[in-house]
Amino acid sequence: VYLFTNDLRLSDNESLRKALTHEPQLTLLFCINPRWHRANRFGRRMMGEKRYRFLCETLQCLRSRLNVHGQTLRCFYAPPEQVLARLHVAYDVSRIYTSINAGYDEKIMAKRLRDQYPDLNFIETHTHTLFANDDLPFSLNGLPKTFSAFRKKIEHLREAVRSPQPAPPAYGQSDLPELECQTPIPAEESLTALDSPPLFTGGEQAGQQHLHHYLSQRHASFYKETRNALDDFHSSTKFSPWLAQGCLSPRQILKALNAYELEHGANESSYWIYFELLWREYFQWYSHKHGAKLFAFSGITERKPLTSFYDERFKRWCLGRTPFPIINACMNQLNNTGYLSNRGRQLVASCFVNELALDWRYGAAYFEEQLIDYDVAANWGNWQYLAGVGADQRGLRRFNLEKQASTYDPDGAFTRKWNGTANAEQNLDSIDAASWPLDVGTDTNKQSSTRP
Ligand SMILES: Cc1cc2nc3c(=O)[nH]c(=O)nc-3n(C[C@H](O)[C@H](O)[C@H](O)COP(=O)(O)OP(=O)(O)OC[C@H]3O[C@@H](n4cnc5c(N)ncnc54)[C@H](O)[C@@H]3O)c2cc1C
Repeated sequence: VYLFTNDLRLSDNESLRKALTHEPQLTLLFCINPRWHRANRFGRRMMGEKRYRFLCETLQCLRSRLNVHGQTLRCFYAPPEQVLARLHVAYDVSRIYTSINAGYDEKIMAKRLRDQYPDLNFIETHTHTLFANDDLPFSLNGLPKTFSAFRKKIEHLREAVRSPQPAPPAYGQSDLPELECQTPIPAEESLTALDSPPLFTGGEQAGQQHLHHYLSQRHASFYKETRNALDDFHSSTKFSPWLAQGCLSPRQILKALNAYELEHGANESSYWIYFELLWREYFQWYSHKHGAKLFAFSGITERKPLTSFYDERFKRWCLGRTPFPIINACMNQLNNTGYLSNRGRQLVASCFVNELALDWRYGAAYFEEQLIDYDVAANWGNWQYLAGVGADQRGLRRFNLEKQASTYDPDGAFTRKWNGTANAEQNLDSIDAASWPLDVGTDTNKQSSTRP
C-alpha cells in the first residue's frame, strides 16, 4: 500500500518511486481524517474550509493523473490508522510505503500501528525537504539552536541538493477489492461555497503552472525588495500552499530557480528565495528533532511565558476587532482569503503575545485552521519563535505596531482595503456595568476612584 500524506504529487516523489520499484501490485490511498473537521483542544478545527477545498482539488488532480496510467487513488473518510489496520487484518497487507511527516501525531500513528502489529512494515522516506537526512552536515540531535547557525552550515551546499526526479512512467495495479469505507473525493458542488474567489487552485499541475508563471514574469529578480509588502499577489512567491500539501517539492523550486539564475542572472533577490527556503528547511528538521515540544507552552525552552487565555481578547483578535487597525486588517485578510503575508503573520502574532498577552498556542491553532498553506513545522515553529520559546536566543519578539503600520502601510491603503478601522475597539477588555474596581478615569466614576 502507498499512503499519500503531504506528498500529493507524482513527480519528485522519492517515496512513491521506491514503492513502485519494489511492488508490482500497489494500492494508492489517501485518508481524509474526520479529526480535521472537529474542534481540537484549542477549540479550533484543524482544517478550515479554504484549505479543505485546496486539498480536494489536489486530490482530484492526483487521481486524474493516475487514471491516465490506469491507476487510481482510493480515498477514505477515516483515520489512516483505522484503514491501515483493516487492510492488514483483512487482506494481510504488510508493507506500507509513505513519506516521513514532520508532524508529531503522524509519527505517533505509525509507531502505534507498529506496536500493535509487529509484522507491519513501514517504509518511510523524506520527500518534504531540500536535503535528505543523510546529506545534512550534522545529526538531527546536532541541529543548530538558531537559524543563523543552521544557515552557516548548510547554505554553501546548494549545489549538493539532489536533483528532482521526473514522474514514474508506470504505476502498477491494485490487487485489493473496493473497501466499504471508501469515499468519493469531494467535488466542487459538495464543498462549502466561499465568499470570494479562491486565491489558489490545488494540485500538482496548478503548482507547476504557478512556479513557471512566477519565474517567467521575472518577479524573482525583485523579490527581496517586495517580499515585505502586506498585499499584492506577486510581492512574494506564493509557493507556500503547494509546498505545504506537497504538490511542489522544494527541490523542484530550487532547480527552477537555478535555471532562472542561469538565464537571467543571479542577484540578491533571487538568492533570497533560496534563503527563505532554508528557513522552511530549518523548521522541518526542527520539528523532527523536537517532536511534541513543538506544541508545548514553554516550547523548546524551560520557561513558561507570562501569558494566559482571555476568551474575549482571543475572539476580538480572530474577528479583527482589536484596538489596532493594522492587526484588524491583517486578520480580515486572513479570514477572507486563507492567506496572510509573512509581515502580516509576524505582526498579528506579536500583537497576540505582547499586546493581548495571550497563550501563543491558541494563535497557532487559529492559523492552523485558517491558513491554506498551513504546514505543521513552519506554523508552530514560527509561532514559538515569536513567542520567545523557540529557535531564538533573544527571546520574545515585539513589533511596534504603529511604526510597522507607517512603514508598511504608509498611506493606510491596506488598512482601508481590509476594513481595519471600522471595528477597532478602544478597550482591550469589556468594562462591566459598575466598572469596578479598576476603571477610575471618567467623571461618572469619580466616586469609585476614591474607593480603597
Ligand atoms: C506566525 C507565523 C506562522 C507561519 N505559518 C506558516 C505556515 O503554516 N506555513 C508556511 O508555509 N509558512 C508559514 N509561515 C512562514 C511564512 O510566513 C510563509 O511561508 C510565507 O508568508 C508564505 O508566502 P510565500 O510563499 O509567498 O513566501 P515567500 O516569501 O515567497 O517565501 C518562499 C518560501 O519560503 C518559505 N518561507 C518563507 N518564510 C518562511 C518562514 N518564516 N518560515 C518557514 N518557511 C518560510 C515558504 O515555503 C515560502 O513559500 C509562518 C510565519 C509566521 C510568522
